Parts: sequence; C-alpha cells; structure tokens
Amino acid sequence: MIPWSMRAVNVLKPAPYAKVMSALSSLIIRSQDSINQLAGATGAAHLITRNGGLHVYRSEAAFKAKLQALPYWEKHGISVKILNGADARALEPALADNVIGGLYFPESGRCSDPKELGLHYFRYLLQNGAQFLQSAFLGVETDLNSILQVVLPGQRLSAAKVVMATGHSTDRLLQRHGFKSALVAERGYHLMMSEPGVSLSRPVVFGEAYFAATPMDKGLRFAGTAEFCRPDAPPNMQRSHMLQQLAKQYIPGLTAAPGQPWMGVRPSLPDGLPAIGKVASQPGLFYAFGHAHNGLTTSAITAQCVSSLIDGREPPIDIKPFDYNRFSHSAN
Ligand SMILES: Cc1cc2nc3c(=O)[nH]c(=O)nc-3n(C[C@H](O)[C@H](O)[C@H](O)COP(=O)(O)OP(=O)(O)OC[C@H]3O[C@@H](n4cnc5c(N)ncnc54)[C@H](O)[C@@H]3O)c2cc1C
Repeated sequence: MIPWSMRAVNVLKPAPYAKVMSALSSLIIRSQDSINQLAGATGAAHLITRNGGLHVYRSEAAFKAKLQALPYWEKHGISVKILNGADARALEPALADNVIGGLYFPESGRCSDPKELGLHYFRYLLQNGAQFLQSAFLGVETDLNSILQVVLPGQRLSAAKVVMATGHSTDRLLQRHGFKSALVAERGYHLMMSEPGVSLSRPVVFGEAYFAATPMDKGLRFAGTAEFCRPDAPPNMQRSHMLQQLAKQYIPGLTAAPGQPWMGVRPSLPDGLPAIGKVASQPGLFYAFGHAHNGLTTSAITAQCVSSLIDGREPPIDIKPFDYNRFSHSAN
C-alpha cells in the first residue's frame, strides 16, 4: 500500500489539487442549506447561525501564502473578502493590534452546540419510529439467502439496507468487502472556556498556528492540532492547554483561567475527501465516513447523498469522487 503521507503529498500537485478542491467545494457549498433543512425539521434551527467566519494573520508571509488559494475559492463560488488589520478588528474587537490582515468568509455558518444538534436529531428519529440499540458493531455479513446480517456481539440483525458510518473503524470493517485500507486516525484537541474574559461574534481561525476559536452557547471553544497515532492511545491534554497560550498571541484579553480539555479522532483520508457510496459487491450495503476536519459541516449533505442512494434516487451532487474504491486496485 502506498503510505498515507505520500498520497497526501501527491494531492498537493496542481492537477489532483484542483480535482480535490472541486469535489470538496461541491459538498461545502451545499452544506449550509442542508444543515438548515435538517435543523429546521428537527427543531434545532436556533443552534445554527450564519454570520461569517474569519481567518486572521500576524505575519505577511503566512497571509500571502494563504492568498494563493483565492483563485480556487473564486472558481468554486466561495465568497471571500480580503481585510487589513483594522477591518479585522472592526469585525472582532478582541483581536490584537499585531493582526495585520485577514480573510472574511461572509457565507460561513456555525453551530453553537454540536452535542445539542445531535440530540435534536436523535430525539426526532425516536419520535418518528427509529429504534436505538447501543452495541459494538463487528461488521456486515450475509446469510445463506444473501440477506444482510449486522453482526453484534452475541447477536445478528437481518437488514435490507445497512449504512456503515462508524468513523475511523469503518475502514477496517470494509476491508472484508474488498476495499484497501487508506484511512488514518488524525486526533484533534479542543479547550472549552466557559468564562474566557473576551467575546467573539463568529469563528476565527488563527492563520499561522492553524486552529480556531468558536463562540458557543457554553463559552469559547479553541480547537485544532493534528496528532497521528493509534486512535485509542492515551490523550495528551497538554495539546489542549497549549491552544490557550497560542490564542493569547491573537486575543490578548483571554483569561488565564483553566478550560475543559477534550480529544477526538478525525477519520482522515489522504486526499482530504470523505468516502460516500455503496459496496458494489454487496447490494444494500452503503458507507459514509472519512470526513476528517469537515464532518460536522458536511454531515447533512452527506446524509442527503446516502438517503438518495438507499432510495435509488440520484444524489444531490456528483458522488463519484467519494467512491472508496479510489484507493483500491482490487476489483470490488
Ligand atoms: C478537535 C476537533 C475539532 C473539530 N472541529 C470540527 C468543526 O469545527 N467542523 C467540522 O465540520 N468538523 C470538525 N471536526 C471533525 C468532526 O468531528 C469529524 O469529521 C466527525 O466527527 C466525523 O464523524 P463520523 O460520524 O464519521 O465519525 P465519529 O465522530 O468518529 O463517530 C463514529 C461513531 O461510531 C462509533 N463507533 C466506531 N466504531 C464502532 C464499532 N465498531 N461499534 C460501535 N460503534 C462504533 C464511535 O464510538 C462514534 O460514536 C473536529 C474534530 C476534532 C477532533
């Protein structure tokens, strides 16, 4: 297997980069409307706000490097405004005087409480006939009549259609269906500060260190970092606390009071695109995973693609670029 890092570097060449940007944009551009639809239908509209996002820079070099992506954003219909330091501070007065410029994405949205959003979806499903069963999931097999069997410890459930969406472990579970493994666990950390001493009106990405501060219902959340290791290795919460120190370089008024650290596992594929599709050799079996840094943003549009596949309808966007066979040389 070609190592993950070599595949990731290969994507930076102009031709594959253009293809990846085009496919990712097709998801991102539809993501906000899709989330609004689902949030509206499940009584969670109050958790979604659309007042833009900001990337800020303290160094000319980092700012100039980021501006190279402008033609791609423009080509794919992503609106962006270039700001100087004063413009950035006019949007977010908590920013430091040494912020020299920024990029403002007016169409960006945010969720003020992702856990609450998930709970709204969950309650909606239960109210509409779904059953909830919590268990380890060992894989999908077929019985003698070719009926799909969901394999759980000590139990098998027959199913007409199954969607495998178990984050990073989906990759391992799909290998028995002929797919080659291409996924790594890219762990990230956040620090939740309930009383940060400053306020932001929208998500702000700190360009040089590449992590974000997002205003939420329960405080200010700093999130980022990339740690490539076993998904179940003990977390290093120093990575969370480090975010507070780094953030003070951009937001000097940030308090030194300790925040709540957290670690999560991003399921990451080397080309930065998710895997959404069906298992050709196994009618009725579908997959959706590998959304890396964009799993919340692109959750609802992914769900719409998967539900189209299940119902035999045309998905709302072209999902060919997300076929997991793109990493396999074996026929599936
Ligand atoms: C610090 C951090 C910040 C982030 N910020 C953002 C952001 O601002 N915006 C954004 O869009 N995305 C963000 N992400 C990325 C986002 O969290 C992921 O893309 C998303 O969670 C992936 O969703 P998933 O459902 O595919 O996988 P997961 O979230 O990993 O969920 C998979 C679920 O399946 C369960 N599971 C796995 N294997 C099994 C098994 N064998 N049996 C039973 N259950 C199993 C797991 O317990 C888990 O509950 C962030 C991630 C991190 C770590």
